[in-house]
Formats: sequence, C-alpha cells, structure tokens
Amino acid sequence: MLEVSNLVKHFPVKTWILKAVDGISFKVGDGEILGLVGESGCGKTTLGRGILRLMEPTSGEVLFRGNSVTKMGKEELRKIRRYMQIIFQDPYSSLNPRMNIRQIVGEGLKIHKIASGKELNKKVENMLERVGIPATYINKNPRDLSGGQRQRIAIARAIVLSPAFIVCDEPVSALDVSIQSQILNLLIELKNEFGLSYLFISHDLSVIEYISDRVMVMYLGQIVESAPVDAIYKNPKHPYTLALMNAIPVVDPDLKRKRRILQGDPPSPINPPDGCRFHPRCPEAMEVCKSIYPEQIMISPNHTTRCHLYL
Ligand code: SF4
Repeated sequence: MLEVSNLVKHFPVKTWILKAVDGISFKVGDGEILGLVGESGCGKTTLGRGILRLMEPTSGEVLFRGNSVTKMGKEELRKIRRYMQIIFQDPYSSLNPRMNIRQIVGEGLKIHKIASGKELNKKVENMLERVGIPATYINKNPRDLSGGQRQRIAIARAIVLSPAFIVCDEPVSALDVSIQSQILNLLIELKNEFGLSYLFISHDLSVIEYISDRVMVMYLGQIVESAPVDAIYKNPKHPYTLALMNAIPVVDPDLKRKRRILQGDPPSPINPPDGCRFHPRCPEAMEVCKSIYPEQIMISPNHTTRCHLYL
C-alpha cells in the first residue's frame, strides 16, 4: 500500500537546521494499522503530513500503490488525495465552524466530482449513520456537537471518499477517556469494513497497543524500534522503548520501585546529540554511543532496533 524511503523534513531556523524527520523508511501493508509512538515534539505529526505532502518533504520518496507521491505534480496530487486522507487531533479546530455538516462531509465529494445534489445528500446521510451520527444532523453546525460527535464527523469526511490509506494523527487525544474507546472501535470497524490501512499516530502507548498490528517507536526524528505489536510490548529492546513502557502508570508499589523512569526532556531537534540521539538520557549509554550513530539491527524477523547493545 505505502512505502516510505529515507524521508527527511528539515526546517531552517536562523542559522540552524531543525531536523524534525531525519531519514525514515517503512512500509504499510494492505489492511494494516501501523502505530507510531513517541514523546511530543519527536516529529510524528511532521512525518504524517510529509507523507501526504501537506508539508513538502526535504528529500526521500513516498510510494502509494507504486506511484511516487513525492514526484507528483499538483493535479495528480489532488486526484490521489482522495485515496490518502488524514484525521486530525483536534475536532474543534479541524471542522470549519462556518460550514454545516452536509457541507463539511460533502465537500470532498464535490471537489472530486463524485456526487452532487440529492446523490451527495444521500451519501452524506448514509455515512453519518455509519459513523453513529443521526442523518437528521445533516444541517447542524459543528458547534452544536460534542467533541466525540465532531470527531465522528471528521472520520465521516475522510471515509466518504472511499480512501485506501489514512493518517490518523492523535485522533483520540483530545477526547474524554470514555469516548476514546468508542472512536478507536469505530476506526477498527471501518478499517475492516472498507479494507483501509492506517498510520496511527499517538503518544499514548495503551492506545497504540489497542489498535495497532505493528508499532514504530520514534525519537528525535528517527525510528529507534519497529516490531509487531505483541513483540514490542512483551519484549521491548531499545532502552527508549523500555523507558516509555516504564512510564505507563501501575498500581503495584513493588513494580513501581523496580522501574527506571526516564529523566529529563528530549534534546532539541535543532542541534541533536552526536552518535545515538538518546545517549544523554539513556541508562545503558556506553562510550561508543556518544560518537557512533547505531545502525538498524534485526533482532528477529520483523523486529528491528537501533542500539549498540545489540551489535
Ligand atoms: Fe542507549 Fe547506546 Fe543503545 Fe543509544 S545506542 S539506546 S545510548 S545503549
């Protein structure tokens, strides 16, 4: 479905370069949910937007069904966007308050000349019902809806175009915990029903574990570990992945004492450390980690990490 090769997105900041995404490669298979997890500011959102060219990548290539998204001209890109959608984090700012639900969900149908008039209304009504919103809400405005309902509208807007791949950028982070599982279950149902693939971005390990088939862990613009969901949660290898796992709250006081909690904030991506970017915070850091960038190492089939401990 999707193949990303050595994707880079750098931003010039005065005389420096902010390395938000720094040479990332991965594939997403048909019907697969690939989870992307990491702390805030590690470059997850920039990566998601770079894939869709909502932000122009600095270099690298994105292939969607074998077609190079990164080399497409404006018109080709406009056409392919129907099949590559995004669901944003904040359902309050991602829906235009001056448009009603018919206009919001139907806008893409009009732009891509898929439907108009009564046919458009019918498609919008059907999609609203599919995402759990009564069809009678079609003339309502986003301000009349709760956060969860707004996110259902944002999902309807993406799915109504019959996409194949969706970047889900922290789609439940802004919602109450009680609503989060409803939205996650809806996304899983829709994935199965329409044969979709997702890149699912979240800082929340529990959410990523619940929804993903495979997981990539991102730190300061780079992927440090990648594995099927069971492997990474039962047997995390990279010290950063372990630190993220240790940060999940637990009740057992013995377990709490045994855990090593990650200290400090990530260094700035404007001037990342030499060698392994995690070395200033890593409890396992060795001399070599300060100067040599670790290569990607295969731990087992489909499980890779970047860490000198496994050389
Ligand atoms: Fe820690 Fe070194 Fe591994 Fe980096 S390469 S995660 S600093 S042990």
